Amino acid sequence: MSADFDLAIVGSGFAGTLLAMIARRLGRSVLMIERGRHPRFAIGESSTPLANLWLEILADRYDLPRLRPLSQWGTWQASYPHMGCGLKRGFSYFHHEPGKPWQGRDDRSDQLLVAASPNDFVADTHWYRPDFDAFLVEEMVRLGVEYRDETTLTACDLVTDGVHLEGKCRGQSFRAHAGFLVDASGPRGYLHQTLGLPEAQYEDFPRTRGLFSHFTGVGSWSQNNPVFAEAPFPPDDAALHHTFEGGWMWVLRFNNGITSAGFAEAVDSATERSNDLAADPAKAWNAFLKRFPSIGRQFAEAQLIRPWTVTEPLAFRTARCVGHRWAQLPMAAGFVDPLFSTGFVLSLLGIDRLARALEAGCPEGALAAYEADTLADLDATARLIGGAYRVLGKPDAFKALTMLYFASASFSETALRLGKPHLAPGFLLRGHPRMGPAFRSLLADAGRQPTTDWIARVSDTVAPINIAGLCDPKKRHWYGVEAADLLAGAAHLESSPEAIQAMLRKCGL
Ligand SMILES: Cc1cc2nc3c(=O)[nH]c(=O)nc-3n(C[C@H](O)[C@H](O)[C@H](O)COP(=O)(O)OP(=O)(O)OC[C@H]3O[C@@H](n4cnc5c(N)ncnc54)[C@H](O)[C@@H]3O)c2cc1C
Repeated sequence: MSADFDLAIVGSGFAGTLLAMIARRLGRSVLMIERGRHPRFAIGESSTPLANLWLEILADRYDLPRLRPLSQWGTWQASYPHMGCGLKRGFSYFHHEPGKPWQGRDDRSDQLLVAASPNDFVADTHWYRPDFDAFLVEEMVRLGVEYRDETTLTACDLVTDGVHLEGKCRGQSFRAHAGFLVDASGPRGYLHQTLGLPEAQYEDFPRTRGLFSHFTGVGSWSQNNPVFAEAPFPPDDAALHHTFEGGWMWVLRFNNGITSAGFAEAVDSATERSNDLAADPAKAWNAFLKRFPSIGRQFAEAQLIRPWTVTEPLAFRTARCVGHRWAQLPMAAGFVDPLFSTGFVLSLLGIDRLARALEAGCPEGALAAYEADTLADLDATARLIGGAYRVLGKPDAFKALTMLYFASASFSETALRLGKPHLAPGFLLRGHPRMGPAFRSLLADAGRQPTTDWIARVSDTVAPINIAGLCDPKKRHWYGVEAADLLAGAAHLESSPEAIQAMLRKCGL
């Protein structure tokens, strides 16, 4: 093959394939290069209301109706029941101390449940990526993207009018020219290595690492446990988190019998000495299960069904993510941590911005703005998660910190749904004139100010964006979705209760 394209994309994960489809809808010719072959394992599975809203927005704006059902559980099950998927009604957190069983205290101080949806139909999902990404690749090819899998790029020359690529696809050499190159190959991926791009560090962020895989036979955390009889949603139908000092674990159940699980932890000299994850991941995993006996019980019958993945260091940030005729998608530009499931929404925000830049012919100004926004979103995420790592051992402070995430995410989602995006500038409201600086200051003090004072500051800070009844002691750490909270917050959204009711009806509620 020797051919010319408007756009070449390296990496056919969900982000690269979605951008490829959008580019086709914009009338561009697209070459997609993938080193592997679908279906294949990919990590990054748990979606969120804001991510699903962005999937809807992009599917509608770029006329991709076959993707829209993937934005909620009910439509997904009706349209694509064969594709692996997990029901995610919200976020559940359980705090553990080493060597002790989890208690389920009467005051619920060792737990937090935050619903993201009022019923299963409109609920979020966990994407079983082997199925999800393979589906997107099929769609992309249907829309006319030239797809080369099992391909290794051997040369990449950035020239004035684009990029010359050379490679080998299943033993056959090829050359191609594209007017623009997008790197969607993930952290420390293709362009990072090929161009030798410099790394930058997140400020005030610990060194972290992760160990994860897929399992069958993982036990239910909450079934038959009377503690959860009145819970706002079944805590297993969620992004289930086990938290402990210095780290946390995720457990995500799919409807095909498979569960994704892993842990992320800050690395200090003690953890490093006691466990070399890469040398013997199975030993490290077993030691982890032994350290937290209730988690050990949940995994007592679990069977590993694919090799372990060890990621160390887990966090990554590039210093540059655009250049003449090239750009990296957000996941190639940086990754912070899976806590709060920020990866999809950051990717989708990046796709939105880059698609608009492509529409405009990629002028330098648009690319510079794309870079500034992408890196600023990553830094805001790192401030939140860096603060979280400092308070993971203090459950009250950690629960308060999550309120910053839930308040800003629910406010942003609702502002967008009401057609008022100017109310929610930047991910985590980083561009908001009051919230941006207030979040910065609070997160810098997380774990460093007396806990009670800090928790009170969180509650005061989020008050003007609190449209979800958060920080309410009467709820005792269980937050359902209540239309009344949203209606009471109408004024924060410069809206009337009637406008909120109309929005809820539009969402099928
Ligand atoms: C441990 C962990 C847990 C996460 N959990 C969540 C979560 O719960 N929720 C969430 O929103 N986000 C999560 N994320 C982030 C999430 O993984 C990403 O947002 C998402 O996968 C980004 O998709 P992508 O298409 O950019 O990259 P990927 O899905 O990584 O796809 C990259 C593709 O590029 C290909 N590729 C790589 N190098 C080359 C090359 N040289 N040439 C050709 N092809 C190449 C790969 O084979 C792959 O197909 C998590 C990330 C990690 C590390």
